[in-house]
Amino acid sequence: MGNYREILTKQRAFYESGTTKTLEFRLESLKRLREALASNEQKLTDALKKDLNKSAFETYSSEIGIVLQEIRFIIQNLKKWTKPKRVKTAFTHTGSKGVIYSDPYGVALIIGPWNYPIQLILSPLIGAIAGGNCAVIKPSELTPETSRVLSEMISDCYPAEYITVVQGDADITKELLYENFDYLFFTGSVPVGKIVMEAAAKHLTPVTLELGGKSPGVVHEDADLKLAAKRIAWGKFMNAGQTCVAPDYLYVHKSIKQAFLEQVIKETQALYGAEPIENEQYTHIVNQKHFNRLKGYLKEGQLVYGGKNRGEVLVIEPTILEKVTFDDTVMQEEIFGPILPILEYTDINEVIKGVKQNPNPLALYLFTENKQIENKIIGSLSFGGGCINDTIFHIVTPYLPFGGVGTSGMGTYHGKSSFDTFTHQKSLLKQTTKFDNPFRYPNAKKGMDIIKKIMR
Ligand code: NAD
Repeated sequence: MGNYREILTKQRAFYESGTTKTLEFRLESLKRLREALASNEQKLTDALKKDLNKSAFETYSSEIGIVLQEIRFIIQNLKKWTKPKRVKTAFTHTGSKGVIYSDPYGVALIIGPWNYPIQLILSPLIGAIAGGNCAVIKPSELTPETSRVLSEMISDCYPAEYITVVQGDADITKELLYENFDYLFFTGSVPVGKIVMEAAAKHLTPVTLELGGKSPGVVHEDADLKLAAKRIAWGKFMNAGQTCVAPDYLYVHKSIKQAFLEQVIKETQALYGAEPIENEQYTHIVNQKHFNRLKGYLKEGQLVYGGKNRGEVLVIEPTILEKVTFDDTVMQEEIFGPILPILEYTDINEVIKGVKQNPNPLALYLFTENKQIENKIIGSLSFGGGCINDTIFHIVTPYLPFGGVGTSGMGTYHGKSSFDTFTHQKSLLKQTTKFDNPFRYPNAKKGMDIIKKIMR
């Protein structure tokens, strides 16, 4: 028997009591989370400062605020979403009614990464609650302070038979994955995503995988250079580049490359000053292993800007490289740090060919005023989602489903798609007993002729 069977058994019993399924309980649970976030805001901010040197501004704008916005949106819409939906029935089904019920799955396991340790645990949890499920949460061991505060907050908020946190590393996660959950929601790296999917396959458990990869940015010759540079610097160096949807590398049109470089350096300095290493607002690298990995990339290509780093505090300043190729490791691995390689192009087909050398990106950002270029990129490349003339902002709206494709993940969440992810569409046909259409039966007179007329 697995070590976590007891938690699962208790949660399943609670789920079977039907408590979590009522609209009132779901709304009450969401409101409780909102209150808990308000009362723990300072503790969470302090914890993230210790774990990642994340500033109060970033903690609110990219973690707590996003979660609060998601709760508000879901509370506003949940009643409508939970109602069974009447749908049309086909001519062959005359007399019957079609209804779709959004049924909870039962007990969900939510596994999170370290880079946005509040948002990437609580946003899926909101979906699980909205869907009427119980949940076990496994936050990352690499942000221990935040995981500890989250665990205390959740246990103050909810009984363990409804929602509980299990803290621990890869071994603990493997033990959890051994159990037969009703849904797995994983955010993290591609290799661990494969482990999660393999574990899910053993029980045929449905999964959502929110993974990573190399997300390109493309700056076309007609782009608004100042805005492109500002929005790219913001999206890349926020959280020191440790963002799954950060622009990983850029393709910049040759004719504007020099002007863009000057502008992006200016905008980066405007955001973090001339000495970002000393800037209290600038996030640090999560651990020594990632710091060493990122330092290795600094030897590749040609350094255009930045590159200074301090091992004692694990900080690397915003850095720009050029003259890199797809043979360099920095262009083969997901960077996940404040290093921005820039490639140049003259024909948009080079961009399409280059992006296709890597697996499907999680995000893609195109800066252009040209509708044809926009259509060409959208029509030619497969990626999870993205923006035209911006970075990252597509994940902040609850109206757009967020997720990857291919190796960047499967399934989506945020807003309505979180509710859809954590519910099964149970389709029901309610047949009439007032009459019985004879043509479905093999002994009907001229049945075949009539069926051929109707079913074509
Ligand atoms: P990770 O895959 O190393 O860890 C994620 C979780 O899996 C953690 O809770 C960890 O304890 C657990 N884990 C680690 N190794 C395991 C193993 N061998 N078996 C079972 N469980 C294991 O990812 P990370 O380093 O925390 O996060 C960075 C990665 O996550 C990047 O690739 C990034 O792109 C991706 N990411 C994706 C999204 C998204 O929304 N798509 C968001 C953030 C991060």
